Amino acid sequence: MRSISMLDLGRQYQYMKANIDAAVAKCFGHQQWILGPEVKLFEDEIAGYIGSKNCIGVASGTDALVLALRALAIQSKNHEYFDKKDKIITTPFTFTATGDAILRSGATPVFIDIDPATYSIDTARIKEYLASNPKDVAGILPVHLYGRPANMDEIIAIANNYKIFVVEDAAQAFGAAWREKRLGSLGTMAAFSFFPSKNLGGSGDGGAVSTDDSRLADLVRMLLKHGGKDKYNVDHIGYNSRLDTLQAAILLAKFKFIDEFNKKRNMVADAYDKFLGSVAGIVLPVAPDENYRSIYNQYTLRVVNGKRDSLQNKLKEAGIPTVVYYPTPLNYMKVFKGRCETPFTLEASEQAACEVLSLPIDPLLTIEEINYICETIKNSL
Ligand SMILES: *Cc1c(COP(=O)(O)O)cnc(C)c1O
Repeated sequence: MRSISMLDLGRQYQYMKANIDAAVAKCFGHQQWILGPEVKLFEDEIAGYIGSKNCIGVASGTDALVLALRALAIQSKNHEYFDKKDKIITTPFTFTATGDAILRSGATPVFIDIDPATYSIDTARIKEYLASNPKDVAGILPVHLYGRPANMDEIIAIANNYKIFVVEDAAQAFGAAWREKRLGSLGTMAAFSFFPSKNLGGSGDGGAVSTDDSRLADLVRMLLKHGGKDKYNVDHIGYNSRLDTLQAAILLAKFKFIDEFNKKRNMVADAYDKFLGSVAGIVLPVAPDENYRSIYNQYTLRVVNGKRDSLQNKLKEAGIPTVVYYPTPLNYMKVFKGRCETPFTLEASEQAACEVLSLPIDPLLTIEEINYICETIKNSL
């Protein structure tokens, strides 16, 4: 039987082997494992690429979110953490870390439903919530889910109107853009993840914070090194959250391929769009307009009429893996019980959780493999 990978990291490694091996060998040559030269080189490359004044490497995407929010708490409140009555608006249809980071910063997540067409936070609902709760909201944490931007014109306009911050969860969206601007350069701050399955994925954990605000950047730099400029005499309640030299070296090597690979993912997505365009019972992830420049961290279908799980099983039997991102909206998780607010119903998120299915999105998928996947889908519905 055939067997296709969701994301074939081995195949990617073979494609970039010479670059990655040389980068790793170089680290063993200099042995500067902690904040070695590759970390700063990587930060500078990424800042330039995104179009942000500062990029700070950290140990994971989750830490990037936590440190960004902690820096904002310190700057805006002159306090180490937000208070429970400080609210941060986000979506329940995301990875746990988005909401968890809000809890860890001391604030209360306010879950607002998604727009079913884009899977991103529904900006009309944000406005509705802010209109009746204009005080206590500290900021908005939109998620660029599946590698496609949230509507940043709307979100930035709302944030400016209420003078609140925007932290972009760009963990899934390295290289994607809203209009002409790369994600991570639009909000007050942004968080990236270099988890192996992200578009720019390391060989282990890694993350980065970007911001144009140099004071916030300084705070993140302190927080990641135990909370001080001098680690033997610190100012803040900090973390050990450095980006590894070895990860930075590997990421620098892989970064050379990012535009090529993001383009390849777009070609895979175009092929899916074409082959699946006329299939009844599924809804393709079509962007509302050309402002949404996705890098397809996932290619996610909606399978209607309750057929998602049976389709997933049939594909599995044919050697085609698929994943449900995400089966449980955050507000249903025990960790958020009594610690979040849900001012409106979250129907669109609940429905999406029952209907979404992400297909293999390896940038090196062959047209023949894509054909096989699409034919199997057609025959399974
Ligand atoms: C992956 C991811 C994170 C967390 O990143 P890690 O590097 O795994 O800590 C946060 N938010 C979203 C939306 C993600 O997909």
